[in-house]
Amino acid sequence: MKVALFGAEGKVGAALLPVLVAAGHEVRPIEIGDEPDVAGLDACVDFTTPDAAPANVRAAIEQGVSCVVGTTGWEPKRLGELAAEAGVRLFVAPNFSIGAVLMMRFAHEAAQYFPRAEIIEFHNEAKKDAPSGTARATAELIGGDPVIHSVRLPGLVAHQEVIFGSEGQLLTIRHDTTARESFADGVLLALEKLGSLPAGLTVGLDALL
Ligand code: NAP
Repeated sequence: MKVALFGAEGKVGAALLPVLVAAGHEVRPIEIGDEPDVAGLDACVDFTTPDAAPANVRAAIEQGVSCVVGTTGWEPKRLGELAAEAGVRLFVAPNFSIGAVLMMRFAHEAAQYFPRAEIIEFHNEAKKDAPSGTARATAELIGGDPVIHSVRLPGLVAHQEVIFGSEGQLLTIRHDTTARESFADGVLLALEKLGSLPAGLTVGLDALL
């Protein structure tokens, strides 16, 4: 596929670019300050910032190009409606790592048997939004408005613990992302399935598995 990569020089973008190329995609890197000229491409991938992503997605939709978005900390509902009107797909996932999606699935299941849970998410200090999109999505799956603790420190990549408690027992479900390449498989899967999704917004890798 011919793919634009918004944020190609960012931490995720830089890890993603060689994987996309190795998988046979033709990639046009788009950095801050570049014109979001994507007309005629098959898809856009965005790993930028919560401020930049909505404008990038809007530009792509206006040029009739479907999007795969990993940027967190923004609300995609309105642009999903615009995408539906334009007949293009907007796929957004708070986490593209398969292990993290399974962690959320297991947390959803455990929540049926435990009365209380809290979430601790750990990310690199450069992460701009808190709590993380994954933590918010997990909280929604668990229900009951669990407390989310956000840790931002150098040395961390992306990690999350969901701790369930009841009288006399604790259950901890933990996922660790140790390298940003872990997001690439999910992005490749999203690009592969993009054409078979309905026009408009689809949220979460779970919808593709
Ligand atoms: P990062 O290192 O800060 O990278 C963001 C990149 O986007 C930077 O190179 C930045 O350029 C660039 N950028 C800013 N505005 C732009 C624009 N208008 N057009 C094109 N590029 C622009 O951040 P990151 O760690 O790669 O993370 C990026 C986003 O992905 C964050 O929202 C993060 O939370 C999210 N994320 C999601 C997942 C997932 O699985 N869904 C996984 C990891 C991260 P400058 O440096 O020049 O500003």
